[in-house]
Parts: sequence; structure tokens; C-alpha cells
Amino acid sequence: MSALILPEYTDIEAAAERIEGYANKTPIMTSRTVNELFGAEVFFKCENYQRMGAFKFRGAMNALSQFSDKQKAAGVAAFSSGNHAQAIALSAQLLGIPATIVMPHDAPAAKVAATRGYGGKVVEYNRYTEDREQIGRDLASKRGLTLIPPYDHPHVIAGQGTAAKELLEETGELDALFVCLGGGLLAGSALAARRISPHCGIYGVEPQAGNDGQRSFRSGAIVHIDTPETIADGAQTQHLGRYTFPIIQQNVDDIFTVSDAELITCMRFFAERMKMVVEPTGCLGFAAARARKQALRGKRIGVIISGGNVDLRSYGAFLAG
Ligand SMILES: *Cc1c(COP(=O)(O)O)cnc(C)c1O
Repeated sequence: MSALILPEYTDIEAAAERIEGYANKTPIMTSRTVNELFGAEVFFKCENYQRMGAFKFRGAMNALSQFSDKQKAAGVAAFSSGNHAQAIALSAQLLGIPATIVMPHDAPAAKVAATRGYGGKVVEYNRYTEDREQIGRDLASKRGLTLIPPYDHPHVIAGQGTAAKELLEETGELDALFVCLGGGLLAGSALAARRISPHCGIYGVEPQAGNDGQRSFRSGAIVHIDTPETIADGAQTQHLGRYTFPIIQQNVDDIFTVSDAELITCMRFFAERMKMVVEPTGCLGFAAARARKQALRGKRIGVIISGGNVDLRSYGAFLAG
């Protein structure tokens, strides 16, 4: 196997230029209530206000805008539990590229409808019995499509890193940054934060039900798990990737886990106090910071809110409790 060329900070700078004019420069919000609760300054990078409702537009747009004419004509394929699908479909539509998306049969209805709405062709599979990666690869090889994976791709990682770059350029140096994983957003954020704010503690956060990232990070080898059952449907990954794992190992300080109950508490907090719709996965970073607020007193803290795409019926049920 040839040696991997890992993305670097300069790739994030190039990605920022490529996606400019397409991606939203999302707002950074603060809350006096949160700052008082923490005895600290907390900055929320609100990727729930990104186009299609999550940071994934950044990575998709960065990857697709580097396609050759031949790749553009043949089309793109993606397998995704939701937001990556929408991100690829929207980026492809903006660039005039046909998109085929492999989605789980039980993906949130709003995410399937949105993907179709952006012009993506949806192919369904059963995520408990079928291997989406195999399905995606078969489609790609049969029809000559270029497969863009949701996180383990250097162009995707570089694109995702632009969110933390924007955050740190606006806030200046931070003491701690909390990012959900997955892997792609954390790897990109870590590359950006290491360069722009070298002393910043960088923390990944994943659902308790699927702590493969934490186990991989602490053991030094990629741990594979079954699809975890959690309301954080954007972070149901089964393993870190060949690109994301070494970047995370080299640049991240620790990985924490949070329960679904803590995610619901944060979803309610965002709705009630900050008037923001945040999807369960989008609450991971804040939930972990909140659980450590004693240790964070007096610090400057960044939290990436990764997305806001949640089926309204489930959202209502989460809020009502
Ligand atoms: C995909 C996704 C994640 C996880 O991102 P990775 O790049 O796989 O780490 C987190 N939150 C939301 C809202 C997502 O869509």
C-alpha cells in the first residue's frame, strides 16, 4: 500500500478559497447564561446555519470542486446517514455534476427528502445488514462514478477544517476546542487549531454508545464497532479512518463521550435559551464541555455546533421529554 499523504494546514487555506462564495461564513454566538454557568467565555461556531444545515457542505464542496472534467461528466457517488448526502447533492447541483446517494432505509425523512430536493438520486440500503461501503464501491465502479466518502478523504478533511479556521480567526487564541466525531470534522479542526492557536486543548466528543474513537485514540490502533444505537445519527461511525486516525492521534488531546440524555438536555438548552434548532449530534461538543465546566473556569472555549437537521417530529419528542 502506498504511503498516505495526510492533509495539512495549507490544504485548509486552499479549501477556504475554493468554497468562498459558496459556503456561508457561519455566525459565532455567545450566551451570557452559558458564560455565567461556566464562569468562562464560550464561543459557539454555528454550523447549523451552514448551507444545507451542517458543516458537511464545506468538505463536499472542496472535494467536488477539484473534480476533473471527466469526473464531473460521469458524476459523484456517496454513502451517508444523512448530512453528507445533502452536502454532496447540493454541491453537485451547484457545480452541475450528477449525484447518486446511498442512504440507510431508516434515515430521517427530512434528510432523505432534502437530498432528493437537491437533485440527488437516492439508493436505499439496510444499515444493520448490508455494507454501505461495498454498495457504494460497486456503484462507483460499475458506472464510473467518483465516490466521495463522508470523512476519510483528504479533500473532505481539509474542507471541514475551514469551520475551525473561521472560528479561531474571529475569536483569537482559545484554551479549549470541543468538536464532535466522526472523524473528518475533528481531524480538520485539529489541523486548523494546531496552527492558529497552538496551545489550545483539542477535544473530540462521541456518543457513549459508540466510543470507538476514544478506544482507538487511547489504544493506538483503530477499533471497529457495530453501528451504535444513539440519537446522534451523524456520529454513528463504526471506526476512524486511515486519514483521520493519524491526524487525530498527532493533534488531539483527548476524546470524551456523552450520553443521549445529556444530548437531549443540550438540545433543550439551545432551543429555550439561544433560540436555536440543533440536531442531537450537533450537541456533542457542548455536552462534553458542560460536563467539564469546573475544569474550564476562566478559560476561553470554542464549541462547534455541527448541524441542525432534525426530523421535526423527533425534535418535538426530544423537547417534550
Ligand atoms: C457528519 C456529522 C458529524 C460527524 O462528522 P465527521 O466528519 O464524521 O466527524 C457530526 N455532526 C453532524 C451534524 C454531522 O452531520
